[in-house]
Amino acid sequence: MKGTFDAKRCVVMGGAGFIGSHLCERLVAEGAARVVSVDNLVTGNGANLSGLLGRPGFEDVRADVSEPFAVEGPLDYVFNLASPASPVDYHQLPLETLRVGARGTEHGLRLAEAAGAVFLQASTSEVYGDPLVHPQREDYWGNVNPVGPRAVYDEAKRYGEALVSAYRRSRGLSVRIVRIFNTYGPRMRLNDGRVVPAFVTQALAGEDFTVFGDGSQTRSFCFVHDLVEGLVRLALSDVQDPVNLGNPDEMTILQFAEAVRAAAGGGGRIVFRPLPEDDPQQRRPDIGRARALLGWEPRVGLTEGLAETIVWFRKQDGSGRSGAAARRLAAT
Ligand code: NAD
Ligand code: UDP
Repeated sequence: MKGTFDAKRCVVMGGAGFIGSHLCERLVAEGAARVVSVDNLVTGNGANLSGLLGRPGFEDVRADVSEPFAVEGPLDYVFNLASPASPVDYHQLPLETLRVGARGTEHGLRLAEAAGAVFLQASTSEVYGDPLVHPQREDYWGNVNPVGPRAVYDEAKRYGEALVSAYRRSRGLSVRIVRIFNTYGPRMRLNDGRVVPAFVTQALAGEDFTVFGDGSQTRSFCFVHDLVEGLVRLALSDVQDPVNLGNPDEMTILQFAEAVRAAAGGGGRIVFRPLPEDDPQQRRPDIGRARALLGWEPRVGLTEGLAETIVWFRKQDGSGRSGAAARRLAAT
């Protein structure tokens, strides 16, 4: 890792979201001179940034990045984290998800190009689809159904990578592409439908765990502070090829339910529900590139990370109803 964020000027598209808000906090803590969150709160929550409001150099801007937007003044980094990220959210917001992945990404790229800033794209393990190669290395091209229900997210993120790469090749923009694997922690929306908030809220309410399919599908869960450390290292590096960031500690969803039961001390039976279409059967990052080029690997184990997540979930009022997607869900 070269340099620091000291005195740097940064834009975080999607800064009011789960990961984006942790990134904004980290950049401010690193001494950035200016951190501008640009978010329309479609799946985010303004309260995620409450600890930063009023801090010198921090700005909380409401804007839809799928429409042209401006941030005046010099910039060093543009981080693009703006996109619905939960399968439930992007099923509810299919066109918005495609738009933000395409137009939103291009608006961010133009902003970075005009300012001479580095552009970091939050991509995803979903570019590997339902992977036929395991664990997933960055040189695997993936197995995505382009017309299935997950395509609005997967293909938007794949297009985003292609667009970012075209700006790098044809315009000389300095870019970073991070393929984020399942990440969890405080500030996930309680009802975003992802398995971590689902099982934790079920455990805390003493409800049954809703396991989709037979629960033999695997995921690998990375704590958000580890992920943000990786984002910081990647941004400060000169690595322009895609880099996986995630925790290689793979488990089945049934094993994960038992881990949540142990950590939260609750939860009832396991009840099985239909597996969503195209749900990937296995997922685990090969983090060899991140280890070699960034000196990065996750430090927080599942027991510790779940404990911190559960403390935060216990403090919430149980509604978790922030964001337009949540309001739509609540209405269905
Ligand atoms: P999140 O939903 O909490 O955050 C996304 C943020 O983007 C929200 O605040 C939302 O309001 C904002 N946003 C969406 N569309 C926008 C638009 N048109 N204009 C302005 N703001 C907009 O999700 P997250 O889990 O924090 O994910 C952040 C990023 O990381 C996403 O790009 C996601 O694809 C990527 N990612 C996350 C994970 C994960 O496990 N959390 C895994 C892979 C990739
Ligand atoms: N899942 C589940 N029960 C739930 C929510 C999700 O069994 O209440 C499963 C889902 O089918 C998937 C895994 O947990 O196999 C991870 O789902 P999530 O939505 O968190 O993220 P994904 O990795 O699919 O993007």
